[in-house]
Amino acid sequence: MEKSDLRQRLEQGNLRWQRREDEQAALRVETAEKGQRPYAIVVACSDSRVIPEQIFDAGLGELFVIRVAGNVLDRHQLGSIEYAAGHLHSRLILVLGHTGCGAVGAALSGGGDGFIQYITDEILLAVGEERDPVRACEKNVEHAVEILKQEFREHPEIPTEALEIRGAVYDIESGWVRWL
Ligand SMILES: [Zn+2]
Repeated sequence: MEKSDLRQRLEQGNLRWQRREDEQAALRVETAEKGQRPYAIVVACSDSRVIPEQIFDAGLGELFVIRVAGNVLDRHQLGSIEYAAGHLHSRLILVLGHTGCGAVGAALSGGGDGFIQYITDEILLAVGEERDPVRACEKNVEHAVEILKQEFREHPEIPTEALEIRGAVYDIESGWVRWL
């Protein structure tokens, strides 16, 4: 496919979005006017099969989503979470790993090159000696949950006791979210 065809595909998709006259279109106008109040923060992988809004059947303004390959955390992610929890009053943070994760797979195969290494290094730190892909995925999620619990344990603006921090693994075939 030519580059211009790809752009056209995006533009056509955007046109369809603008022309929609359903519940989502109404929500678009409503949230633009009244602001967002996402009930949960989801840290998920960038994998194109892992779309939190679809997985949780959520509409515009309901989820504050951070997507990064391998659902790893660094300061940019923590800043985004701090904003949503502190200013938008989201009270649940979910770290969502998934089956068949390429980033976890790359880490288990020894790590990636270039910028990818920043991601696989973090995953390797989380999984340690574990080489089973399912268990490694869980450990990667658990690691991120631990970081969040530590970072937001005593926060001046976020009432920690009201904040629920959880991990889960999404099955890309069945669609099931298994809470850890
Ligand atoms: Zn992934």
